[in-house]
Amino acid sequence: MRKTEVNLSADVVVVGGGIIGLCIAYYLHREGGNVVVVDRGAMGEGCSFANAGLVAPSHFIPLASPGIVAKGLRWMLHPESPFYIRPRLDWNLISWLWKFRRSAAHSMVQRHKKPLKEFLEFSRVLFRDLCRADLFDFEWSERGLLMLYLTGAGERDLRGLYRQARELGVSAQFLTREQLARLLGPIRTPAPGGLFFPEDAHLDPGAFVKGMARYLSGRGVRFIEYAAVQKLIHRKNRVEALQLENGRVRARQVVLAAGSWTPQLTAPMDLDVPVQPAKGYSLTFPWEKPVFTVPMILTETKIAVTPFQRRLRFAGTLELAGLQLKINHRRIRAIRKGVQKYLPELEPFSRQKGQLWAGLRPCTPDGLPIVGRVPAYPNLIIATGHAMIGISLATGTGKVVADMVLERSPEICIHPFRVDRF
Ligand SMILES: Cc1cc2nc3c(=O)[nH]c(=O)nc-3n(C[C@H](O)[C@H](O)[C@H](O)COP(=O)(O)OP(=O)(O)OC[C@H]3O[C@@H](n4cnc5c(N)ncnc54)[C@H](O)[C@@H]3O)c2cc1C
Repeated sequence: MRKTEVNLSADVVVVGGGIIGLCIAYYLHREGGNVVVVDRGAMGEGCSFANAGLVAPSHFIPLASPGIVAKGLRWMLHPESPFYIRPRLDWNLISWLWKFRRSAAHSMVQRHKKPLKEFLEFSRVLFRDLCRADLFDFEWSERGLLMLYLTGAGERDLRGLYRQARELGVSAQFLTREQLARLLGPIRTPAPGGLFFPEDAHLDPGAFVKGMARYLSGRGVRFIEYAAVQKLIHRKNRVEALQLENGRVRARQVVLAAGSWTPQLTAPMDLDVPVQPAKGYSLTFPWEKPVFTVPMILTETKIAVTPFQRRLRFAGTLELAGLQLKINHRRIRAIRKGVQKYLPELEPFSRQKGQLWAGLRPCTPDGLPIVGRVPAYPNLIIATGHAMIGISLATGTGKVVADMVLERSPEICIHPFRVDRF
């Protein structure tokens, strides 16, 4: 069937209707902007849909951090480990890994953690405001985040994180076995202790993106769905329009928030946007009578366990395997087994099929998102590379990009996230 021809003009067009694109559209619309959002699929069905849903100021250490390279190499030899790189001769991947290794230096992490912490906290405050505004329900819950460890190495990692949290002024408590038991209530764990971040929160990411899309479309924001942007049409240093399979969208300003697919659109323009897709999985189970309400991260396995109001979700693994969503069942088994080790009473869930989902996290080599104007094309803004903290940073990114579009100064320092830093 032939698609209807599209021929539109707008002040701002956002490419990508994931949580980042939708939050940008929300803050622009709130300021009276005329916004169009284009997605190659339906709104909110990329990586933003069934992830762990943590809004986590505790995640102020970027993915590229000391020790991660050695750990990653060890993990790669283990088929059930949380990390995997599909070996291949891909120049973009090789260059990304090289930059990643360079960024994992102590000095870089020292430089990056403070701006990242500020961005995370800014975003969390905005989520709370959104919840109070009561525009749609997204199961917002302020119960903190508990990180459990089983081994000496896990304890050392968490003690290091605890020290850094204290230095940066992030609230954190190191818990003994007895304190853990009090926090977890009826659910037991063999973990000898854990690290608790009381200021972290969580939400249902699927409910958030779908609710936000409904809210915006009900208020006149125009969505073009199932329409992949094929290229950005530019003349001299201005992007003039987006080329779709079935037409064009012209705009004064263009925001690229296409997650892991962003480099497909920037590469033909000779822009270096080093984003690699990192696949992760989740398993979701119906849960009629929740017995705990605090989400957890199982430190050694990097699995997240998120309690929603009537569902329970396990999420994890990071596979650098290219732009594809093929499911590796060995790793899914590893997620099921991993949860049992820390929370044996959840074993019945591991025997249920559950709803299986995969998403591609857009990862930069230095672990920081890319949020800023492109110097070579001043009417083009890029907002991507949020990796494992795209939910946590979504409202902050939305607000900062809206300010940029409206030529106002953002409320936080965004210099570390600029496009031309690589
Ligand atoms: C297992 C797992 C658990 C996670 N847990 C958490 C968590 O607990 N907390 C947290 O903060 N983050 C978490 N994340 C990370 C988070 O999900 C991502 O960082 C975030 O969803 C990225 O959002 P996005 O809008 O950039 O990308 P996406 O949601 O992928 O959106 C990009 C959109 O662009 C569209 N698009 C792409 N190309 C084109 C094109 N050419 N034309 C038109 N549209 C296009 C896509 O269809 C897609 O809808 C997790 C990720 C995974 C995989």
